[in-house]
Amino acid sequence: MSTTVEFPAPCTIPMPPDAQSDIVEKAIPEDPRVWVPQADRVYFRPLFFNTTNGQWCNLLKVTKAGFLSRHRHPAPVHGYVIKGKWRYLEHDWVATAGSYVFEPPGEIHTLVVDEDCEEMITFFNISGAMIYVDEAGRTTAYEDVHTKIEMCRRHYEKVGLGTDYVRRFIR
Ligand code: FE
Repeated sequence: MSTTVEFPAPCTIPMPPDAQSDIVEKAIPEDPRVWVPQADRVYFRPLFFNTTNGQWCNLLKVTKAGFLSRHRHPAPVHGYVIKGKWRYLEHDWVATAGSYVFEPPGEIHTLVVDEDCEEMITFFNISGAMIYVDEAGRTTAYEDVHTKIEMCRRHYEKVGLGTDYVRRFIR
């Protein structure tokens, strides 16, 4: 017996008036100003900010001998290495171009790029937060979708793209 399933007509999903719902663009931007400085030798390129569920996607770029401070996540993180290589001080593996990295909730790690790598670029899909912790496990700082948006606003204002440039990533 076959059943016919009736799908509703394509609906219009409510979006903010200036949201761009369908964008294909170079993930590695042609305009270097799109990269937002995050720390010494650490930059991120926003791709997607979800202020409803606290998720964001970005490319992370770390240049030679740079590192991302010790942190933990309350929710899963997925990474895909596009270029270069990096490792966590807390693990004995090295993630190289083409690697998929899964960071489970609760995982604490420190990302480092060694002297033999000029630059690494990795796509990360993050939910919740980056909670920076010291050696004793005490929280020293945090980042979430809202602080990331604010960092973008300030940077894009400074480099002449304007604070509103970040709005294209908020969907
Ligand atoms: Fe992490």
